[in-house]
Amino acid sequence: MRKRGRNVDDGRTRNMAKRKMDYSSRTKHPQPKIGTRYGKVLVIKIDYGPLGGIIAVYCRCDCGMEWSPLRDNLVAGKCSRCPLCRDKAMHDAQRKYDFVPEEHRERMQNIVHNAIGRCHRRPSRDYGKRGITVYAPWRKDRVEFVRYLLTLPGWDNPKLVVDRTDNDGNYEPSNLRFVTPSESMFNRRPFKLWPSTQISGKKRPGL
Ligand SMILES: [Zn+2]
Repeated sequence: MRKRGRNVDDGRTRNMAKRKMDYSSRTKHPQPKIGTRYGKVLVIKIDYGPLGGIIAVYCRCDCGMEWSPLRDNLVAGKCSRCPLCRDKAMHDAQRKYDFVPEEHRERMQNIVHNAIGRCHRRPSRDYGKRGITVYAPWRKDRVEFVRYLLTLPGWDNPKLVVDRTDNDGNYEPSNLRFVTPSESMFNRRPFKLWPSTQISGKKRPGL
């Protein structure tokens, strides 16, 4: 049975196709064309729908692999290489952490990831917005950060956490140590100095 409504082929869709709708002026990213290059990826074929929209994009990676990424991912710059090249690059990136014993590798990477996150990627009230930073060479090369952590006593004890010796200091050499979580709590700022107690100039009741 044929569909009713808009999808009935009454000539309307064909007329619309004749109008050659131009999507390029309405989209955030320029539309891909045959020959457009995204990193190592070259667009080799595009399927258009009856209204001129892109249905499928076919690409070739510099390594020779051909596949069809999602158009949205491609134009947003998320497909700069084929899935095989991506997996290989990610594998090679992980090889840089080979010097860390496997059972501690993820924990060390998380420490670095979280520290950079709360100071820079999404600055939080108690870290980035307070002016706490991560030592620049460590931000640039996280492997160096992990290398330094491994020189500290207690790094291989999963129950210990990283603590900044000087609470107002940064994540930088000579200001880090591994302590138990409760020791780290004692190294906090006094409660009355927490920003949450000073919202709009008012103190919390009872303070
Ligand atoms: Zn490839």
